[in-house]
Amino acid sequence: VGWSWEQLVEVARNAGVPGSHLDIAAAVSLAEHRGNVDPSAVGDLKLQTEKWGPSYGLWQIRSLKPKYLHLEPWRDGSRLADPHFNARAMYRISKGGINFTPWSTFEDGLYRQYLRGVEMGCAPAPACRAALTEATKNWPNRRKTSDGICGDPRHQARVSDHNSGQAWDLSHDPAHGCDAHALVEGIRQRQDKRVKYIISNRRICGPGSSGGGWNWKSYSGNNPHSIHAHVSIWPSARNATGSWFGGATAEAPASTPATTPSAAPPYPGYGGRYGGYNRAEFENKVDGNVRTIQERLNLHLKGVGATQIGADGRFGRKTEDAVKWFQRSRRGMKVDGTVGAKTWGELWK
Ligand SMILES: [Zn+2]
Repeated sequence: VGWSWEQLVEVARNAGVPGSHLDIAAAVSLAEHRGNVDPSAVGDLKLQTEKWGPSYGLWQIRSLKPKYLHLEPWRDGSRLADPHFNARAMYRISKGGINFTPWSTFEDGLYRQYLRGVEMGCAPAPACRAALTEATKNWPNRRKTSDGICGDPRHQARVSDHNSGQAWDLSHDPAHGCDAHALVEGIRQRQDKRVKYIISNRRICGPGSSGGGWNWKSYSGNNPHSIHAHVSIWPSARNATGSWFGGATAEAPASTPATTPSAAPPYPGYGGRYGGYNRAEFENKVDGNVRTIQERLNLHLKGVGATQIGADGRFGRKTEDAVKWFQRSRRGMKVDGTVGAKTWGELWK
């Protein structure tokens, strides 16, 4: 009875929990026991169901009734009083000692009281601080609710570059000019050498990702990264504090027209085979509405410091790529490269 933080760290380490997360693992155990850790503790017997038995031991692992044990054998109530068996169960349930969200004391934050090294040696990289500072300089009224470099303990509970201060999260707040997803798209297009990878709106990209560097691929992590965008940097880029947003300024907010916003003119109503203007229909003709679309796209591209496209009224590959980029940068839009009524309206927002 009364296991210490050091003892918990030791048994967690033996079970395979990575060094960056030993503190959290120990704190969760302490929180589960309200500071007095008893390896033979049995949780509330009244919480049992036909499938679930009581919780046991160091990490208060919920046991499964024998009939269901084949599903998760590490939830064997007859063995969970063994500290090492219990720690291995914790390791399994936390996906390798990195995700403690299954524990209520983690979710409600109680474990924080028991952390030893809250910052865990995180020193924010100057390059990351530069990104958030630049964003605030450009868009002083932006919300910062999801900003982070070292992140909160929730963030630290997963293996991530936030643990070393080599990642920055930028809150998505297009209403105040800071369109995080459009901004990281600009960084992707410029192929910023500092970047290890970017996560934005369920997509991930980076220079080294297999199958074509810098292309977006779908990202299936727990956090969709819709209220913020995430950028990880290489350790060698820690001190590279150059501009991240390529001159996007308060006068030209990201993904917002550089000129005074005006109401969208009514959609010209081209239906055609694809329900709008696209490459298949307009690559080989010159069309005034296509030119208007290109001019609007250019305002958005300019806003993130990206290369503009020719406004020649022909809907070529570059126009198609720009339309898809624009549709991707907007929430809830179908990315089909076709400008129908919805995309048309968005181009004036
Ligand atoms: Zn992040």
